[in-house]
Amino acid sequence: MICVLAGGVGAAKFLRGLVAVVGDEKITAIVNTGDDLTLYGRRICPDIDTVTYTLAGVVNPETGWGVANESYTIRRTLIELGDTPWFLLGDRDIGLHMFRTQRLCAGKKLSEVTAEVCHCLGVPISVIPMSDSPVATKILTERQDGSLKEMDFQEYFVANHHEPVVRGVRYDGIEAASPPPQALSALGECDRIIIAPSNPLLSIGPLLAVDAIAEILRARRSACIAVSPLIGGKAVKGPAADILTSLHAQSTVTTVASLYREYCSSLAIDPQDSDESVQLQALGVAPLVTNLWMRTPQEEAKLAKRVLHG
Ligand code: GDP
Repeated sequence: MICVLAGGVGAAKFLRGLVAVVGDEKITAIVNTGDDLTLYGRRICPDIDTVTYTLAGVVNPETGWGVANESYTIRRTLIELGDTPWFLLGDRDIGLHMFRTQRLCAGKKLSEVTAEVCHCLGVPISVIPMSDSPVATKILTERQDGSLKEMDFQEYFVANHHEPVVRGVRYDGIEAASPPPQALSALGECDRIIIAPSNPLLSIGPLLAVDAIAEILRARRSACIAVSPLIGGKAVKGPAADILTSLHAQSTVTTVASLYREYCSSLAIDPQDSDESVQLQALGVAPLVTNLWMRTPQEEAKLAKRVLHG
């Protein structure tokens, strides 16, 4: 069995590659829930949904998230009513959020609802939320006048297009996080652990901040390899490079290795970053140099194969 710690888009592409190369071996993805939010009374889990839609084969190929060929009737109604829906939700997507919310209100756990959704959509892996209780990533941002403002994750990421300078990140509710037992047993028993190419602070950070997950990872460090979300010091998408620079002085694979070194013994890096191999080795993290950019299903599978087999 292979266990993957996952955020959204970067992780979902990698998981799709993994499914293509592992054959019958079981894959379990433990997914960040720090981005989750409630809008219009509906519970939305962006990273879980991105992984689910991608592996169900219905993801919007243009964005890497949301459903392909979506309609936006509900959104148009909201606009007609004078609302300003800043978070883009299509009709099919909203249907899933309605289903999830109703199940949660009836007393089901997020992990149970997620398993039900994945089963119905034909997702070929186990998708497990990192916590059944809510965890909310909060972003401390700096205004232009130098004052600080804490934002909810999606206020920073979507409403403000992740433009504000980030001065801090915290995960509200993390002490009380309740990782589903099946996530912990999968992590403890699997043959390989992979930290997907996801944002180290916004997507993987919340997972590593769950005590029970971090404890198993520390004990199983030698079984764990991470994949860098940076290529040539830059993020393929999103604010990872900017946040690493503002919080950790530089955006390099060495910074990524220093954040992950407690939890993994190896880091896959792109040939563009191979001149940092010596720094990685000095941190006790073995570099695996391989092409990291997943632009096609072939590249996804090639990367997954390399990460699995060295
Ligand atoms: P989000 O919640 O959807 O932003 O999900 P993630 O954290 O999983 O994805 C964002 C991260 O994935 C960014 O830091 C990207 O640099 C990284 N990423 C996206 N596509 C690729 C890729 O093809 N290769 C690698 N190595 N990283 C990628």
